[in-house]
Amino acid sequence: MTKPDPAPSAPAAPGTAGATPARDSDKVIRTDAEWRARLSDLAYRVTRKHRTERAFTHDNFPKGPGRFHCVCCGAALFDQANKFDSGTGWPSFSAPLEPTALGEREDRSLFMRRTEVHCARCDAHLGHVFPDGPAPTGLRYCMNGVALDFVPQDSPPEQG
Ligand SMILES: [Zn+2]
Repeated sequence: MTKPDPAPSAPAAPGTAGATPARDSDKVIRTDAEWRARLSDLAYRVTRKHRTERAFTHDNFPKGPGRFHCVCCGAALFDQANKFDSGTGWPSFSAPLEPTALGEREDRSLFMRRTEVHCARCDAHLGHVFPDGPAPTGLRYCMNGVALDFVPQDSPPEQG
């Protein structure tokens, strides 16, 4: 008489349910010299030295669907759907792709009090966020175009 064996394999590993992935291991950390070697001169100065590109120099992105990625580490930061014409000459977005994609800190330089925005993954300086954007967020993410790489969307978006 044979008895079916319900569990021929090893028991399930304990602690897998509800485990949180270690997002910090995602961090991209490079030396200043490495960034300088990998980036264009302007992209290096903006993203690693907190400079600001001149207005109307890097806002000529394609208008089709796609996403804007960090020029330093490739992290997806913004969607074309949230881009709007702010008239400032800098790429402007009403919301990030994911709130966790960006980090913010207070910036008191130039005798102003602004909120600096950077890539959460590699700390690249991207621009600033201002509370004068369009509804529904009311936010204006004023970005340096040289800090962004546009990746057109080839396949139709996944509708969840
Ligand atoms: Zn990055």
